[in-house]
Amino acid sequence: MSAQAQMRALLDQLMGTARDGDETRQRVKFSDERVCKSHLLNCCPHDILSGTRMDLGECTKIHDLALRADYEIASKERELFFELDAVDHLESFIAECDRRTELAKKRLAETQEEISAEVAAKAEKVHELNEEIGKLLAKAEQLGAEGNVDEAQKVLQEVEKVRTKKKDAEEEYRNSMPASSFQQQKLRVCEVCSAYLGLHDNDRRLADHFGGKLHLGFIQIREKLDQLKKAVVDKQEKRNQERLKRREEREKEEKMKKRSRSRDRRRRRSRSTSRDRRRSRSRSRDRRRRHRSRSGSRNRGHRHSHEHGSRHK
Ligand SMILES: [Zn+2]
Ligand SMILES: [Zn+2]
Repeated sequence: MSAQAQMRALLDQLMGTARDGDETRQRVKFSDERVCKSHLLNCCPHDILSGTRMDLGECTKIHDLALRADYEIASKERELFFELDAVDHLESFIAECDRRTELAKKRLAETQEEISAEVAAKAEKVHELNEEIGKLLAKAEQLGAEGNVDEAQKVLQEVEKVRTKKKDAEEEYRNSMPASSFQQQKLRVCEVCSAYLGLHDNDRRLADHFGGKLHLGFIQIREKLDQLKKAVVDKQEKRNQERLKRREEREKEEKMKKRSRSRDRRRRRSRSTSRDRRRSRSRSRDRRRRHRSRSGSRNRGHRHSHEHGSRHK
């Protein structure tokens, strides 16, 4: 069994023979319209958010790791412009998410007790510190999981510092309102993933959110979208410059040709002595002969040759 066949057998075993279908693989090329370009570029939200609360189910387009491998090889050899499709895809996905965020914010504003701008700013401060704590805890957990205990410890020390800041911010927030209001859970919508965040969420919940697959997945998609947009601009710029260069070269060539042609003509004219005239006459006779054989009309051929002859005077 070849290495490839062995790998295929292993994949069959892991994912079943019906995965994307070997038939599909044989029929479809990576450049096929039915193939998900975002998947080829490793940024399809259907992949990234699978298994999260916002699992999108299966993508409507074909996903196949073998096609992605084909694409990666081909894109090294020639310029492919799949980024444009992926940008369209991700942009509409993110726009949908941002719409949801705005909607959730509006709903919150309608249901939550109205607070003054000053109090709102104080709540915002607590939220920001919550976010910082959540991110740091998630980072510490990841470092710990990687066996990087020293680094994890350092991050946890940072968490302690932020916690102290948060306590102060909370105190300030609490003092700006009656105790009964403070007890109410204040919610906020996460700008990244549109999930609801509680102002009084504990560390565990914060770490779960900011280190969770959903929130991180959205960060990944947003970052990828920025990268893709940049790549599209770069590629377009490069393409335009190449086009411009080609045009300039073509124009230069054309100018050179024109110049050398008119130089030839001038030279010919100035050298038009009787001897040359004789030669030119014999040349026009040649042409006359050619014309005649081409047009088949003696009359027209004669007129043409006459014109040629007079031009050489
Ligand atoms: Zn997809
Ligand atoms: Zn989030």
